[in-house]
Amino acid sequence: MNTSPRLDVTVETDPLMGRLIDAAVAVIRENAEKLGDLDRAIGDGDHGVNMLRGFNAIDEARDSIAALPLATALQEMGKLLVMSVGGASGPLYGSLLMAMGCAGNSLGEMLRVGVAAVKKRGRSERGEKTMLDVLVPVQLAWEQACKEGLDTREAIERIKRAAEDGLESTRPLLATKGRASFLRERSIGHLDPGAGSSSLLVHAACDAFIETKP
Ligand code: ADP
Ligand code: MG
Repeated sequence: MNTSPRLDVTVETDPLMGRLIDAAVAVIRENAEKLGDLDRAIGDGDHGVNMLRGFNAIDEARDSIAALPLATALQEMGKLLVMSVGGASGPLYGSLLMAMGCAGNSLGEMLRVGVAAVKKRGRSERGEKTMLDVLVPVQLAWEQACKEGLDTREAIERIKRAAEDGLESTRPLLATKGRASFLRERSIGHLDPGAGSSSLLVHAACDAFIETKP
């Protein structure tokens, strides 16, 4: 007979992190070719394989990361991206996740601190045709949604739209940071690859979030 029932208590891990990872890995695998195409137009063509390498590394560590508290999980994923991506985008996404993992439990604060870390690392701002043209509007959209007191579903819709609009906003821009800036005026008329991956990842995260916390 079991005389020690407390030992039988199963600690349920929050399914959110596992779903976030699965959604992110899936969206990068499905779109690696497209991200490569975007980067072939205004960069060196490796953004798809770079992201694939990073998210394959995360997928390999999926179960151990998913069992960690959110903050540590984000930091671990950030480190894996820095170590495995091997392009400008690795340290930038790594900084984003590592900073988010140090920002406490409010999503607003996580986004604010995460985006600030990307700006610092990239010495860049919104409007330079980079991932920040998606990340900054997403952060602002969440802040605005909170101010307006929107419910989760509406707020998530706002965020997804901000990501899409942010990606599209890169098309007419002249790149002033990263490899695309070497093309000067010839960078105009193309979407930025890093903004493309950011928009995909934001969408994947939003869908995973809604699935877990309807
Ligand atoms: P690399 O440019 O080394 O080939 P990737 O192709 O993986 O690396 O990533 C390119 C993306 O990284 C760009 O499309 C852009 O969104 C982002 N990026 C590059 N430099 C910066 C920067 N200084 N600040 C913000 N984002 C940047
Ligand atoms: Mg590249």
